[in-house]
Amino acid sequence: MSLFSLEPVSTTCPYCRSSIELVVDASMAEQRYVDDCPACHRAMNVHAMVTADEIPSVEVFHLREA
Ligand SMILES: [Zn+2]
Repeated sequence: MSLFSLEPVSTTCPYCRSSIELVVDASMAEQRYVDDCPACHRAMNVHAMVTADEIPSVEVFHLREA
């Protein structure tokens, strides 16, 4: 098991509704950070969670909702 494993996760941009892919560090159980949508380049809050099976999932929010 690596200490640093980046996993792509598909989600939907809260602004433009594009289907986007974010890369999550699966070595952390939970993290919050700000990332830019690769489609519309607006900043969004990302809440990433990784299960015990190291399967990451993300929730994305408008910046103002955090
Ligand atoms: Zn977008």
